[in-house]
Amino acid sequence: MSEPLLLPLESGDQLPAFAAAGAFYRGNLHTHSTRSDGLQPPEEVCRRYRERGYDFLALTDHFIGAYGYPIVDTRDFRTNAFTTILGAEVHTGRMANGELWHLLAVGLPEDFTPPLAPGFSPVEGAENAADLARRAVEAGAFVAIAHPQWSGLSFEDAMSIEAAHAVEIYNHSCLMDSDRPDGTAMLDLMLSAGRRLTACATDDAHFSGEDAFGGWVMVKAQTLEPDALVSSLRAGTYYASQGAVITDARISGTHLSIASPDIARLVVCGPGSASVVVQPEAVERSDTGCIARAPLARFKGKDWIRAVIIDSTGKRAWTNPVWLED
Ligand SMILES: [Zn+2]
Ligand SMILES: [Zn+2]
Repeated sequence: MSEPLLLPLESGDQLPAFAAAGAFYRGNLHTHSTRSDGLQPPEEVCRRYRERGYDFLALTDHFIGAYGYPIVDTRDFRTNAFTTILGAEVHTGRMANGELWHLLAVGLPEDFTPPLAPGFSPVEGAENAADLARRAVEAGAFVAIAHPQWSGLSFEDAMSIEAAHAVEIYNHSCLMDSDRPDGTAMLDLMLSAGRRLTACATDDAHFSGEDAFGGWVMVKAQTLEPDALVSSLRAGTYYASQGAVITDARISGTHLSIASPDIARLVVCGPGSASVVVQPEAVERSDTGCIARAPLARFKGKDWIRAVIIDSTGKRAWTNPVWLED
């Protein structure tokens, strides 16, 4: 759980993750084990995240036939202070570049009907990726478009997944193994096309290198229960992080303000080239933390903004997008 608010911000509307009741719980939404191509068994993967101080983990092995379409039962690895969400990385069909689709589905029922995905190569007659995403959402899952940069996803590919809740704004293993971690470009284009998506950071850990503990979500929920966490993810009451912490985020008529123990810079992004930076010398600092206030005049008439803070070690945290006409 996170610390309580370090600093009171001026009046303004709190972003939903901060206005929602409950506490923040830290979790990794995207992880593999020996039930697919990961190198550690499910129990060991859960143990490593638990010992690292995570509140929850979704084990999301590759849902393909070669691995027996696994939705791994991790319930035995829960404790009073650590829970697990059942899920999978689901695959089907063909992206524009000819490769197999990857979609993250967190909160799947164990009897979720597999698509036709025998291996990592697309096959004829497979379910459409948009339909698979829709089925996962209808089955109760939080669905994210996985690693768009690593996949070589086209904008048309991404826009076809109408049911998706989120885009992976950062995928840690895609940074460590491919130097292609980015989801910001695709997310921003989709937001500008009117898609109300949120932004999650994940590890996608296989424990094949330094691919764990680098990207996570902080989910505001009333209890550390899988259903409550998935419900909050679907509602967008969370933020994404590589290590930076956000304790409060508010919008007044003229400014977006972020409170955090450690802010080097704040950047607010909007459609097209619209962005505003709060440089280190403009961040207000005290013994109890930092506040950065970004003026919003640059975004007049724009549909959406989102904020990212970079801390003194270079780690980021991303708020979910905010729709300005709301
Ligand atoms: Zn993947
Ligand atoms: Zn993966």
